[in-house]
Amino acid sequence: MQHPIFFILLTIMSIVTDINTTEADLINTANLVQPTLSYTLNMDEPHTHYIEVVMDIKNLNQDYIDIKMAAWTPGSYMIREFARNVEGFAASANSKEVLSNKISKNTWRVRTKNTKNVSVRYRVYAYEMSVRTSFVDADHAVINPASVMMFIDGMLDVPATIKINPYKDWKEISTALKPAKKGDKWTLQSPNFDMLADSPIEIGNHKIIDFKAVGIPHQLCLIGESNCNEEKIVTDIQKIAQACTDVFGENPLESYTILQHNTDGSYGGLEHFNSTSLMYPRWNFEPEGKYFRWLGLMCHEYFHLWNIKRIRPKELGPFDYENENYTTLLWVAEGVTSYYDDYLLRRADLATPEKYLSVVASNINTYENKPGKKVQSLTESSFDAWIKYYRSDENSNNCCVSYYTKGAVIAAMLDLEILHATKGKKSLDEVMRFLYTEYYKKEARGITQEEFQTVCEDIAGVDMDAFFKAYVHGTAEVDYNKHLAHVGLKIVDENTDKQTLSLGARLQDNDGKISIRSIKRGTCGYNDGLNVYDEVIAINGFRIRKTADVTQQLSRKKAGDVVEVMVSRGGKIRTFEVNLERDNTIAYKIEKADKISKAQEALYNHWMRLD
Ligand SMILES: [Zn+2]
Repeated sequence: MQHPIFFILLTIMSIVTDINTTEADLINTANLVQPTLSYTLNMDEPHTHYIEVVMDIKNLNQDYIDIKMAAWTPGSYMIREFARNVEGFAASANSKEVLSNKISKNTWRVRTKNTKNVSVRYRVYAYEMSVRTSFVDADHAVINPASVMMFIDGMLDVPATIKINPYKDWKEISTALKPAKKGDKWTLQSPNFDMLADSPIEIGNHKIIDFKAVGIPHQLCLIGESNCNEEKIVTDIQKIAQACTDVFGENPLESYTILQHNTDGSYGGLEHFNSTSLMYPRWNFEPEGKYFRWLGLMCHEYFHLWNIKRIRPKELGPFDYENENYTTLLWVAEGVTSYYDDYLLRRADLATPEKYLSVVASNINTYENKPGKKVQSLTESSFDAWIKYYRSDENSNNCCVSYYTKGAVIAAMLDLEILHATKGKKSLDEVMRFLYTEYYKKEARGITQEEFQTVCEDIAGVDMDAFFKAYVHGTAEVDYNKHLAHVGLKIVDENTDKQTLSLGARLQDNDGKISIRSIKRGTCGYNDGLNVYDEVIAINGFRIRKTADVTQQLSRKKAGDVVEVMVSRGGKIRTFEVNLERDNTIAYKIEKADKISKAQEALYNHWMRLD
């Protein structure tokens, strides 16, 4: 998008040249010349994990400017205080120092009076490998621009060039940012700070695979060794891209970059406007059961190209990079995306219907087994992501739900409701397509909670207030059998008859010491006094050295028996009498209903794309 000042400037300039140009006119137009911004990034000693940044700002006409480091990066809803990694901030003009001082945790005020052009220099310590932070070591550099490149307060719309000076041994650079000039891949351009912050940059010697999906150039960057089958992964990305595009009717991309970081165990992804960053354990591309998780991750980030990068909650854009940006709609942005990330694998024939239903059941079980389901609604979970979901602790399961997991479960039930109400003529696809066409393309704005519900009701042709009140704004029990019955399915709890006993505690085995990591609200262990961090020493006088010892002790008991649990709490020995109860963990499985009508069967076949 062109900056509006640019148009005003053009208009004024043309007026000015039409009349007699005076000195005063020239000064006025000079006032309107847009500042220019270029960044230079140096990484000469990557083993130190420092990136040196130079910001050259020209055409200034003010007494001072405030240079700021973002506190978070979009897509990851937590204040991360990137300024804590900044050192050695200094400003200069014509090789002379320009006065600057820090006025807040992330703001440096540079006194630019008497100078139009200023150069700012600082170093950033970058040694946190994740999809939302920056990292540089002897092998490569990952730059998440919001955590490295500062912005000028009030000038987020100023275009920028970014010159990367790579470490001498590095030959490749991959990013969704376009080169500033043809033939120079090391100088990039960004139309504004939003696009810069939304375009991670990978520099090193990674492998690049270029291919097309839905007719659009895609680039897969494989960073680090892995056991991925390159031919298969490309074919599967093409299937995923097609399935996602089919939901919306068109693909908004000109090109797409996938930064695939092969890791030692960490997992995650972050969506961007024209790219994505993925982290996945390097040896888990095989066997198929493990690889399925990568497919889900890829599909999730690809679906985000529409849902959140283009269809977005009203509050998420323009961004406030310094503070929390609150929205109640993360359950749509992330939950609906989480529903589609598995469901589209079924539609792309990358999962059988049985496999897909097992994933739905697994999501339901994850949600149902957390006591937090009675405490926090989807909208509350979305709103408090900044302080709860992203800052989980030992009590989170007792007081929170995940807008991803519950969001995916509720999106599935919502889809089934729309399918049922329209006899299969409409589905959640039409809702998403409408949001994309109307709010993103036509109105170029974000959506509200109310608008999402209204669009669902309009597409379904029925009032859905009770559904939204119960499942989105409230914490009502989900009536799975009612919704699943529309497609001839039911849920069955496979644990109903099991008599396994449990203390309700999640135990951690640490060098022969067993300690309680979390304890589920409402269980016997919780009610009878066991605490998180207690070290379990003995049960009924028998030494506990590993988690299997606990299982062994409980296997000799029955519900109603009392056991003596000896623990060390803060170094003091205590004993608790625990009245044992049956482990009430739910283990739902989705099965065909006992009697299925033709209409139910037809709707099932349509949902699963078997028709
Ligand atoms: Zn997501």
